[in-house]
Amino acid sequence: MEINRRQFFKITGTMAAASLLAEKNPVQAARPQSLWTDTYGCLVDTTLCIGCRLCEQACNERHQLSKPRESFEELAVLERMRRMDETSYTVINRYGRKETGPPDLKNPPTFVKFQCMHCQDPACVSACIVGALTKHPSGPVTYDVKKCIGCRYCMIACPFQVPAYEYHDPLTPEVRKCTFCFHDIQEGKLPACVQFCPREVITFGKRSELLHLANWKIRTHPGRYQKRIYGEKEVGGTSWLYLSSGPFESIGLPSLGTEAPPRLTEAIQHGLFQYFATPLILFAALGGVRGLTGYLNKRKEKSKTKSPEKGARP
Ligand code: SF4
Ligand code: SF4
Ligand code: SF4
Repeated sequence: MEINRRQFFKITGTMAAASLLAEKNPVQAARPQSLWTDTYGCLVDTTLCIGCRLCEQACNERHQLSKPRESFEELAVLERMRRMDETSYTVINRYGRKETGPPDLKNPPTFVKFQCMHCQDPACVSACIVGALTKHPSGPVTYDVKKCIGCRYCMIACPFQVPAYEYHDPLTPEVRKCTFCFHDIQEGKLPACVQFCPREVITFGKRSELLHLANWKIRTHPGRYQKRIYGEKEVGGTSWLYLSSGPFESIGLPSLGTEAPPRLTEAIQHGLFQYFATPLILFAALGGVRGLTGYLNKRKEKSKTKSPEKGARP
């Protein structure tokens, strides 16, 4: 992450003021978990996706994002792995099976849609000391540019590395990420990507019902799916859930464990603010949490190899 001297002093100055206010920040204090037990969510069935990128286009147009360099008809972009950025709240990536090599006719690819997972207990919300990110009881995690001081702790804290930053805009840079089409779903409409997917890859609904649907699909199509729903338990649960025919780790969905990162980040933040620590220390600490999560998961993965996941297709 690049940061020049002027930006550093601006951030540290703002942070010093912000740290005085941190004790009063209601975001961490009020975490009505019980309200979030039945949020809205989306179930992404990766076995149905054909990689057409219409969801990317729908999202880009709905949110009036800048046009990407390559047009949405250009499928050559699938040759490389992409991440969300300030012009793309969602991207499709193509995967072959690690065990069987790169995709071809005999080894069909899996296309995977990525966007903010709208975690049930989001690390980004917890890391933001000025309450610029909010987890709504209906599910979406939204961003308020008016509150943002540009510290980018959310980018460090997010276990999926989702939030992007408008580095190219020196005057009014914003953190950008999928909004879960918050205003649309409040009005009873579907998110744009859900509406425009021609294969009905993405199902929108109450998270509890999506979990029922996913379990029903797994039961009624033995051999088609992994016997696991990604996002059901990862990082304390996410609003976006995934089904896959192959191991989730082989299609870009990281192994993250079930503990919600905010438990760790909050403890670190509160400790640091008590002693008026500098933002650089906080950057390092939050980065350390992400590293620690990865380390713990690698250990879990190792122990898993002794009892491989049932139903995994080769
Ligand atoms: S995926 Fe990252 S940005 Fe999205 S809610 Fe979770 S922690 Fe926040
Ligand atoms: S939910 Fe809305 S903002 Fe998020 S990827 Fe879909 S269209 Fe884009
Ligand atoms: S629109 Fe649907 S089928 Fe096309 S890439 Fe997106 S999720 Fe896949």
